[in-house]
Amino acid sequence: MPRLVLATSNRGKLAEMQALLDGLGLDVVDQGSLGITDAEETASTFVENALLKARHAAAASGLPALADDSGLVVDVLGGAPGLHSARYAGTHGDHAANIARLLRELDGRPAAERRAHFHCVIVLLRHAADPQPLIAEGRWDGFVLEAPRGEGGFGYDPVFLVPEQGLSAAELDPALKNRLSHRVQALARLQALLREHPLA
Ligand code: IMP
Repeated sequence: MPRLVLATSNRGKLAEMQALLDGLGLDVVDQGSLGITDAEETASTFVENALLKARHAAAASGLPALADDSGLVVDVLGGAPGLHSARYAGTHGDHAANIARLLRELDGRPAAERRAHFHCVIVLLRHAADPQPLIAEGRWDGFVLEAPRGEGGFGYDPVFLVPEQGLSAAELDPALKNRLSHRVQALARLQALLREHPLA
């Protein structure tokens, strides 16, 4: 079974990605368990950041590597928090502070101006110098709520309204989130690409 390293140490994402990769016929190992630390996310687009994370993990492990880069894109804020989603309020991964800043930035905006989407890019490199990475994207549309709701998920989930359900992403059953999310959509595309270009 081909081995694949997952280039993330975000625990929420890791759990989601492992659930989503289940059944692909791959032996998936996370980079943390191989002693690989996070790459610096210095690029200016989601796809470039995903590439540099995957390249870092592939180089350090000698294995094929899969990385994603994702974030919340709010139209009325010119795409912010975007690439800076994880550190919008200054400290990487301080989800409560990030949400507080987002709600401040949108204070007083009517529902129609609170349109937002999660964007996800997943990149798979067969080796660190792979010139033909597999690249898949996904998008999940919704609105930013005025106050957090729900306990599940991670990141901006408590303030992301999923219009079809009338629930925040943090109120969704995790299995349902894993059918709707930007990450699962990107992963479904990646699965199709992998069928065309198998790893082994
Ligand atoms: P990354 O780890 O650089 O891709 O940053 C992703 C950041 O975007 C996370 O730390 C969250 O703030 C946000 N994010 C991405 N996906 C989700 C999601 O499914 N729910 C909530 N927030 C998310």
